[in-house]
Amino acid sequence: MPERLFVCTPSKLAAYADCPRRYRYTYLDRPAPPKGPPWAHNSLGASVHTALRAWYSRPVPERRPEAAAALLKNTWVRDGYRDDEQERAAYRQALQWLEAYLGALDPTVEPLGVERVVAVKTSVLAFNGRADRIDARSGPDGPEVVIVDYKTGRTGLTSDDARGSQALALYAYAAQRMFRRPCRRVELHHLPTGTVSAFVHSDESLDRQVVRAEATARDITAAQRAVADGADPDEAFPTTPGTLCGWCDYRRTCPAGAGYPEQQQWAAVDRLLNPSPQPRAAAED
Ligand code: SF4
Repeated sequence: MPERLFVCTPSKLAAYADCPRRYRYTYLDRPAPPKGPPWAHNSLGASVHTALRAWYSRPVPERRPEAAAALLKNTWVRDGYRDDEQERAAYRQALQWLEAYLGALDPTVEPLGVERVVAVKTSVLAFNGRADRIDARSGPDGPEVVIVDYKTGRTGLTSDDARGSQALALYAYAAQRMFRRPCRRVELHHLPTGTVSAFVHSDESLDRQVVRAEATARDITAAQRAVADGADPDEAFPTTPGTLCGWCDYRRTCPAGAGYPEQQQWAAVDRLLNPSPQPRAAAED
């Protein structure tokens, strides 16, 4: 019998790469262990992403920066904030980001896709993922497809972040095949700073990311098979304790997580609203 393809999304691959035990808790254990409370930074990121999607669903004459307030109000997610005061401050901040970002966009330019699912199969995996935005642009060598990912975390991003993002590379790899046009350029649009971090992939760099993803898929499949054959699930899916544990949804379930201080649900938003010269926060959108 041929091997079944490993069905995956960027989140699934990243969860295993970050911590195999977290992958098991999220995708395999049923009933799933209880998750911790919702994170305010996730609420903030989701609200902004949904408002940006809604902006593109409006007719062109209504795509004005002034529309941001109504869009954000409609899409606002309230979970996880410390109190009403912090939530209001986060809303005002998000609105400023959106107005600035939308003010710089050409409303007549229609993306190829907004939160569009792209999918591709290799000999090992069946990948699918939802790209924030897919643009059709004129590149140096003619028409090209560009992958755009919105970011709302507090840290400024660099081209290294765009280069290293496996998710963006897989979106590009899939989009290139779906649209039958070159798709090499990937961009991180960081709304808090209004900056764009970009990287232009080569065929080789895209292939490298696919090979990495396939290796992760094989590791996951092997671990699952070991458990099915009687291996200890805790050994097959080991913990990788570290500072990320403080931000992990399963910290209260995981024996290794207890060794790390629990982050408050609103801590990342607090740092975003009150930046101080501290080390880079572990949590991003
Ligand atoms: S608490 Fe840490 S070790 Fe445990 S599942 Fe989460 S990230 Fe992994």
